[in-house]
Amino acid sequence: MNCFICGGEFEPFLEKDFRLKNLGRCEYLHCANCGLVISKTLYEMPEAQWRALNLECHESYQGSDFCDADPRWLERLHRQAEMICELYDKKIFSPRERFLDYGCGDGKLADMVNEKLSAPAVEKFDEFMTKPEYLQEVSPAEFGAVMTCSVFEHLIGRRDVEKILRLIKSDGVFLLHTLIAEEVPRDANWFYFLPPHCTFFTNKAMQILYEQYEFKGCAYNVGARMWLMFKDESRWRDFKSKDLRGDWARSEQFVDYWKAKPYR
Ligand SMILES: [Zn+2]
Repeated sequence: MNCFICGGEFEPFLEKDFRLKNLGRCEYLHCANCGLVISKTLYEMPEAQWRALNLECHESYQGSDFCDADPRWLERLHRQAEMICELYDKKIFSPRERFLDYGCGDGKLADMVNEKLSAPAVEKFDEFMTKPEYLQEVSPAEFGAVMTCSVFEHLIGRRDVEKILRLIKSDGVFLLHTLIAEEVPRDANWFYFLPPHCTFFTNKAMQILYEQYEFKGCAYNVGARMWLMFKDESRWRDFKSKDLRGDWARSEQFVDYWKAKPYR
């Protein structure tokens, strides 16, 4: 198997035994070139078992106010919602274009944003969990903004990445919250090796992806732990000209903010 980001060779990385109903010994691979780590076991798992595993794991925290991997989860969601609302106030996002929360789970973040806006703007979609008000399907180039929050670590290969990134319009913005490490620790006890996490991005892998999708500018909001990636040059310039609250890092390249452990 070759790396779906850079085409490099995958090498054995480590193994971990989860002792779950749907997941026992799990084998991880590491790309010698870009450092991407994937779970071979999860990538090769039959679709039905993968879905069952996701349910087994999600049921343990969705709808609650606590998450093992991120104890300050709720506070972060508030910061993300505030950031998004400010971007509406400052006209970076417009109520005239569609904003999608892809893989929204129980929809908490989208609800927080919509409660603060005069016209609710964020639409919800989740492949593994659906509610009557959620979109049932999404089509390419429909959205001015696509957000994934704690989703990218659950994706399986190029197909899943492509499914999401192609939803963004040619002048749209991608919002991303996941963990992106300088180097994935070769340590089975690392907190991010959780049962349904199957893809672990490095700064280098993300920079390659950023170039493949021809993003023009990138910003990272430290408090919200969220990246923004702009497809359109003039929208990026407009964003850069705004005076925004909080700590931001901005670059024409992918913002490789997390350089050393613990990467959060
Ligand atoms: Zn690679």
